Amino acid sequence: TRIGIDAGGTLTKIAYWDRENKMSFKSFLSSDFQGVREWIENKHSSSAICLTGGRAEQLKKFLLSKQDLPYMVEFDATMNGVMYQMKQEVISSSSAIIANIGTGTSIHIMHDKTHSRIAGSGIGGGTLLGLGMALTGLTNYKEMIALSKDGKRSTIDVLVSDIYKDNKLPITGSLTASNFGGVTLKPEQARSRADLLAGIQGIIGEVVATLCIQAAEAHGVKDIIYIGSTLEENSLLQEIIESYTILKNKNPIFLEKHGYSGAIGALLEN
Ligand code: ATP
Ligand code: MG
Repeated sequence: TRIGIDAGGTLTKIAYWDRENKMSFKSFLSSDFQGVREWIENKHSSSAICLTGGRAEQLKKFLLSKQDLPYMVEFDATMNGVMYQMKQEVISSSSAIIANIGTGTSIHIMHDKTHSRIAGSGIGGGTLLGLGMALTGLTNYKEMIALSKDGKRSTIDVLVSDIYKDNKLPITGSLTASNFGGVTLKPEQARSRADLLAGIQGIIGEVVATLCIQAAEAHGVKDIIYIGSTLEENSLLQEIIESYTILKNKNPIFLEKHGYSGAIGALLEN
């Protein structure tokens, strides 16, 4: 059988066909190439492997494979995986902005079967983990995400309506005027770790969505497809991105296997 591996900056994602010929998924920390190797040796030693992602070359060396493993350009693999998932989920779009929220964020435009990279940002999943760790001391991704859902951003952020109190609002009052500006402007308020984490999610979601919305405006596109493992089990980030994208009259699309588009594309290639 075959397996597709996307070795990213933070996570190594694997897509493969199980015994019932169903597409299945597995992920490892990219700091655990040993785990990847053991998984392949124990369960998939005779599989044909196709690699993609920024750390593919490092993983290839680590696997010490006798055969030279095929490599697929990350963006091509990701687009293939996105197209496949859209077909599976019966979503159609002839033109869309695609944002891959990985360790960092990469933004692409897709027209029919062609695609090109148009923007990027260092604000991504690594920022979520890094700022989260710096501000709360927590290191576990799942723990951070779970705790952030109990947080209130009202003590962290300043809203337009906070500033324009008793004045006629020039723009929607519920928009964030200043992410984390509340820490200095509302100093008397108590803030929990949950609140800080919710505020961090706000930064990631609003920065990424803003970049995508502007890219969509510039290219006359309505659909924005958000992918990347940063969305995995992260309903708060999805809600932040979704509501802001809708507010700006764009159509947000999330795929079921958020982080696995690259791995799926690599699986389908070989
Ligand atoms: P890049 O594409 O930028 O090279 P990547 O492919 O490793 O990086 P993704 O796997 O799409 O990126 O996303 C990584 C992010 O997903 C992390 O920064 C973190 O926010 C989030 N994440 C989801 N699950 C986990 C997990 N189990 N452990 C650590 N981070 C996780
Ligand atoms: Mg990636």
